[in-house]
Order: sequence, then structure tokens, then C-alpha cells
Amino acid sequence: MGELFRECEVLRVYRKCDTCGEGMMVPTGVTLLSDPPQYQHECDKCGVIENYPQEYPYLFTIETGPMRELTENSTCDLGGL
Ligand SMILES: [Zn+2]
Repeated sequence: MGELFRECEVLRVYRKCDTCGEGMMVPTGVTLLSDPPQYQHECDKCGVIENYPQEYPYLFTIETGPMRELTENSTCDLGGL
């Protein structure tokens, strides 16, 4: 009791390069310690450097199912969590 569950679809969000419009922005591993922090990315096509407030790709979830409580049976389906 108390905890409710809902099925989700998980999407991975990528950032396309605004400069060449073809490449994908990939993290360089450099984080700028501003407030909020910025994550440095480099285009894998033209090499332009951009900073974003989050790292790409990131995961995004869309709730698809109804809210439900776990029964004893569905707890077993989840591997006994
Ligand atoms: Zn580019």
C-alpha cells in the first residue's frame, strides 16, 4: 500500500547540430561550473562547440498506463521486488 505504479515508454532524446543541421551533438566530458552548470558538446560532423544545461542524449519517459497498485501476483512478475 502507499506506492502506486504506472507503465511508461522510455525515449532517448538526441540533440541535432544547429550549425550544420546534419551532425549530432555529443558530450566532450567538460562541465562548466556555472549556475546552473553547462555541459559542453561537440558536433560529430562540423566540430562546432555548444553548451547546454543538460547532457545529450538523455532519457525521457512518457506515462502510458493507468495508475495501479501492485498485487501479490504482479509483484512476482517484477521478480519479487
Ligand atoms: Zn554540426
